[in-house]
Amino acid sequence: MDLTPKVLPETKPFWDAAAEERLMIQRCKPCARHYFPPGPICPHCSQTDADWVQVSGRAKLFSFVLTPSPWPQWKREGLVSVVSVTLEEGPRLLSTVVDCEQTAGALKLDMELTATWRPFGDGPKLLCFRPQTKGAQG
Ligand SMILES: [Zn+2]
Repeated sequence: MDLTPKVLPETKPFWDAAAEERLMIQRCKPCARHYFPPGPICPHCSQTDADWVQVSGRAKLFSFVLTPSPWPQWKREGLVSVVSVTLEEGPRLLSTVVDCEQTAGALKLDMELTATWRPFGDGPKLLCFRPQTKGAQG
């Protein structure tokens, strides 16, 4: 089974930005709210006039499960997190947390995350999240 993400015309700006390790999502012009996944219709107000905008990549962990690595492209051993994160701009999306122990003790709800990208076989880079590193004040 081919599990490589498919780049569709309506998602191409997302994948083009991912190749440059930037997170682009859509923002509705009439209601000014961000939304994801990409689509022609705003889920908030049903209008069809949206821009692609770059967002911060900052997010908080909303929920997670740990599962045996489902895709060989990850080249990861043992349990892998499948997470729901809430972007600073509002949308919630599914991803995984990397650079973090894959245990229920290390993954904490509401932990601060930042976007990062990882190779995924021969396909496009995948959006992942890693724990946000603290500033100088610790
Ligand atoms: Zn809208």
